[in-house]
Amino acid sequence: MKILSVVSELYPFVKTGGLADVAAALPAALRKLGIAVTTLVPGYPPVLAGLESANEILRIEDCFGGNARILADEAREVLALDAPHRFARAGNPYLGPDGKDWPDNAIRFAALGWAAARIGLGDAPAFRPDIVHAHDWQAALALAYLAYAGGARPRTVLTVHNLAFQGLFPAHLLDALRLPPHAYEIQGVEFYGSISFLKAGLQFAERITTVSPTYAQEIRTPSQGFGLDGLLRERADVLHGIINGIDSDLWNPATDARIASRYDRASVARRQINKQALQRRFGLDEHPERLLFAAISRFTQQKGVDLLAGAAPALRAMGAQLAILGAGERDLEERIASISAAHGGAIACVIGYDENLAHLVQAGADALIVPSRFEPCGLTQLCALRYGAIPIVAKVGGLADSIIDVGEDGRGPPTGLSFSPVTQDALDGALRRAALLWKDAAQWSRVQSNGLATDVSWSASARRYASLFADLLATKN
Ligand code: ADP
Repeated sequence: MKILSVVSELYPFVKTGGLADVAAALPAALRKLGIAVTTLVPGYPPVLAGLESANEILRIEDCFGGNARILADEAREVLALDAPHRFARAGNPYLGPDGKDWPDNAIRFAALGWAAARIGLGDAPAFRPDIVHAHDWQAALALAYLAYAGGARPRTVLTVHNLAFQGLFPAHLLDALRLPPHAYEIQGVEFYGSISFLKAGLQFAERITTVSPTYAQEIRTPSQGFGLDGLLRERADVLHGIINGIDSDLWNPATDARIASRYDRASVARRQINKQALQRRFGLDEHPERLLFAAISRFTQQKGVDLLAGAAPALRAMGAQLAILGAGERDLEERIASISAAHGGAIACVIGYDENLAHLVQAGADALIVPSRFEPCGLTQLCALRYGAIPIVAKVGGLADSIIDVGEDGRGPPTGLSFSPVTQDALDGALRRAALLWKDAAQWSRVQSNGLATDVSWSASARRYASLFADLLATKN
């Protein structure tokens, strides 16, 4: 079975969030099951610089305003769309230096979809896939191009990593996007007077997956469907929620070169050395006995970063510490920096994106807070389980699926704390429950051990994707 995975970011080349992690780790897990996965990504500068080999496998004349080539790094099973007129730009893959979306994002990611469709249709015969697997809106137009191409086509799957990001663009771009006039209809790419890349993907994909079972339910409701819940309800028979895993080799405290002291389940006491290193790195008071919470997050409304800031009084009352690693919206960065300044030694932040530091945070924090208002899957709580930081999560989406609260019956050994609704009061209450648990060392270490024993690898979920692909290939178009 040959899969072409199409995605706008890919660890370790370029990453803004969990999408890049999944785009790297899922194919690796599928390969272990004998499935050949090649990943097509835009040829941003760090992608082109990171290729070990770059064999041109296809030339695309006039790829939306310039010539493009598909370069293959066969060892890594990566294809890069080398279209300098669209992707030779430094920095964030989606945003210009002003922090705003690149004005030609519609065309840039149409080019990605177009290239994927060319490969899907067999223009580079050695890479012709059985299935095109598109991730999120940036890749979704591939499925529209394939649908409008007619003739023999590969089968198609769309994975939604976050329904909030839809790729909405003005209707007048229809022609520039090389979509036929009849594409602008309810059964096509039209969405309330605009063009929606994600909607196009949801419309045309033969199978839709999203990254947790609970999120697969939530997005079918008006409150969390971002206007697409009707379509998702219509397509419920092909919509599947498959929880993400993490790369358990990359995230392995027993071998992790990025942390201060390596450990495993038998030597979990060595986390203390990491805790001290973390306190030092963040400028927190170096007290081993103080409960140290942490968070690693994009700073957006979705992630509940304002609730972290609002937890300062509760944290102060319980004498706990908080270390925050993250970056994003300017006002949230300022708010987190200012509560850190106001609570020197107890609350501290590193504003920025630091992959190495994320590992130390997981290895040194006693508990990891994930207060997301919605969360398709979430990866940091899975890393926390793997590293023995007890997750304290909002009970939404994949957080609800992956963490079992100490008070919950019947779901298995408890691995953390969860709270609902996602309000300041509920978060503060969960933090107070954590402080009580912290006082009961035996109980704390039981919950921690349960987390460390949880399988957060891709192996089970990769099998689910594999059987979804196999079922799809077994059905007629
Ligand atoms: P999302 O994709 O919505 O941002 P996820 O929890 O799915 O959220 O994935 C976030 C990924 O990005 C995790 O691997 C996390 O460790 C990482 N991450 C987020 N912010 C930072 C940061 N400031 N520094 C380092 N890693 C970060």
